[in-house]
Amino acid sequence: MFGKTFVDQYVVVTGGGTGIGRATALAFAEQGAAGVIITGRRGAALEEVAAEHEALIPVVADVTTPEGADAVVAAVSELGGQLDVLVHNAGIFRNTPLDDLGADAVREQLEVNVIGPVLLTGRLLPLLREGGNIVLVSSISARLAGAGSSVYSASKAAVDSLIRSWAVELGPKRIRVNGVAPGQVETPILGSGGVSPEAVQDWYSVYAASAPAGRIGKAAEVSSWITRLAEPASSWITGEIITMDGGKLLV
Ligand code: NAP
Repeated sequence: MFGKTFVDQYVVVTGGGTGIGRATALAFAEQGAAGVIITGRRGAALEEVAAEHEALIPVVADVTTPEGADAVVAAVSELGGQLDVLVHNAGIFRNTPLDDLGADAVREQLEVNVIGPVLLTGRLLPLLREGGNIVLVSSISARLAGAGSSVYSASKAAVDSLIRSWAVELGPKRIRVNGVAPGQVETPILGSGGVSPEAVQDWYSVYAASAPAGRIGKAAEVSSWITRLAEPASSWITGEIITMDGGKLLV
């Protein structure tokens, strides 16, 4: 099904043990990548995905800690020290009304969704080859208002801003920086954020009913664009954020 676009390339996908990250890691592996480092805090989830393809390398690493970044740098160095593609996918969502939002709840989302990618990019930059790619997973939430999700939305607006600034800053190194902005996709993220299983189904139904495409998205519909942005065929695209939302932003 896939061409072998990423032969001999090394890739890091944060949050590669579940959802969009899992689909992305498998897509790079199926397209010939020599090694795809998948990171997350839960070793068991990473091991389960790694068993699906020999190119996948599980590395337990929390994106919010210096030790987590050390572990990723060490894993890339062990593979020879050259990184071709860095995918910042790890993210958390919390549905918290404004009057319940304490500083810790604000920090938690900003640390994973914004500070983590900034610090990890800084650490991996010396290993990212000329002509390499960074892809960040943003969200249509960056451009939507949502009661209870103000901090999540603000964190993704910050991600959009990082994409544009890094595209400019890293252009001279011939590193392209792009993003994807999905709408609602079926993954564990809402449940992990404290939304009950019934509420998750309601959420999906409301989204499907209002989006012109009439349904929510699938992880593979996002990962296919993440790999596409890192392909040589996209070599004139940088600073771009591709929306995939079944038309939700139009209505
Ligand atoms: P998911 O399955 O919950 O994936 C999130 C991943 O992030 C998990 O594998 C998790 O692994 C990892 N993660 C969370 N905190 C981390 C930390 N401190 N350090 C390292 N890894 C961490 O949900 P998903 O939907 O695929 O989310 C992937 C990305 O898509 C996120 O950035 C999310 O904001 C974005 N997105 C999702 C949707 C959607 O509707 N699903 C829509 C728009 C954007 P551990 O728990 O093991 O650490």
